[in-house]
Amino acid sequence: MIKHYCNISQILSLKKAHEKDGRNLLPEDLSIIENASLVFNDDEILWTGRTADLPAEYLKEERVDLTGHCLTPEIVDSHTHLIFGGDRALEYSMRLNGADYEEIAKAGGGILNSMTGTNSMEKHELLSIGRERIERLASYGVGTIEIKSGYGLNFDKEYEVTQIINELKAEFKGRVQILNTYMAAHAIPKSFESSDQYLSEVVIPLLEKLATENIVDAVDIFHEEGYFNTEDVKKLFSKCKQLQIPFKSHADEFNDNKGAKLAANEGALSTDHLLQTTSDGISALASSDTVATLLPGTGYFLGKPQANARNFLDAGVKVSIASDYNPGSCHWDNVLQIAAITAPNLKFNQTEIWSAITLNAAHALGLKSQGAIIPGLAPRFSVFKVPTVHHITYHWGRNFFISI
Ligand SMILES: [Zn+2]
Repeated sequence: MIKHYCNISQILSLKKAHEKDGRNLLPEDLSIIENASLVFNDDEILWTGRTADLPAEYLKEERVDLTGHCLTPEIVDSHTHLIFGGDRALEYSMRLNGADYEEIAKAGGGILNSMTGTNSMEKHELLSIGRERIERLASYGVGTIEIKSGYGLNFDKEYEVTQIINELKAEFKGRVQILNTYMAAHAIPKSFESSDQYLSEVVIPLLEKLATENIVDAVDIFHEEGYFNTEDVKKLFSKCKQLQIPFKSHADEFNDNKGAKLAANEGALSTDHLLQTTSDGISALASSDTVATLLPGTGYFLGKPQANARNFLDAGVKVSIASDYNPGSCHWDNVLQIAAITAPNLKFNQTEIWSAITLNAAHALGLKSQGAIIPGLAPRFSVFKVPTVHHITYHWGRNFFISI
């Protein structure tokens, strides 16, 4: 069925940004259309432009008048860990009160705390928590959400969480697009002697099983000192290539272990965090299709330094921003709000910030048919009740998204 939205105050189309593959973006690459119309069917955008220029063939279609509203490409959150049991509120307060990592670990904090919290919950409870959190993200205008497993950290629970994400994906189909990322390689449970032992006995055997069920969209690994090393990452990536499943990594967060460079050279969809990435990693990313996903919410939440975004942007890297929503290091689930706060602090221009949560975030998930409002692309967009697109990121902390 063909739909026609007319009298839209502004469409932020990102036409030019799309032509430039999300790199080296200038303010005018927002490609705003004033007093606009949008014509689309279930599969693709058919026409967009000024309402006054609407081709006669679409005049007969039923119209929805969107006076006083603006459209942007759909908001995408390309990095979340939203299936977890329990919370880490006490740990957060302890940190504010001066506790260090060891004291928090002694008090039962840290990722292994979330592992216990997740393992103590039944499948139906985790499903219900997941459903509630997805609804909340959707209420901000986020239409595509990537969800990682990674708090089960044993064969059976990681399997169950991947199935939970798959069930939520089916349940939300048509409303919220969910991508299922398998991340059993999130941390190493204490019962294993080495990262290699855990990888060989749990992560890879379960991946092989999941591959036969065809429910995993991508595989992720925590490539950091004290977690998984370069050899582990290469081993997992090579298994992914064999199984033809896309892969990505958490890299260069604590130190520059050349994680971004490895991810770019291996053809990862994205590599995320990148606080410590140096020039060789940045140039490897610039000459690859791998998206650099920055997670500034984590820096704000932990009170730590941020990635040097301009180094990536100026080198021609495709940069995305995601929430990293998780119980420990970023209990903040609103990627649009995070982007608004990031723009002046990490020196993004408006096109860079919008591309980071739409076009480039979609590319970070391998979704090349969305991210801009141009004919031929999928009809995925977010609608906001604001007079101009500039108001969306100007009003910090307010939500203008409407569901139509
Ligand atoms: Zn993460």
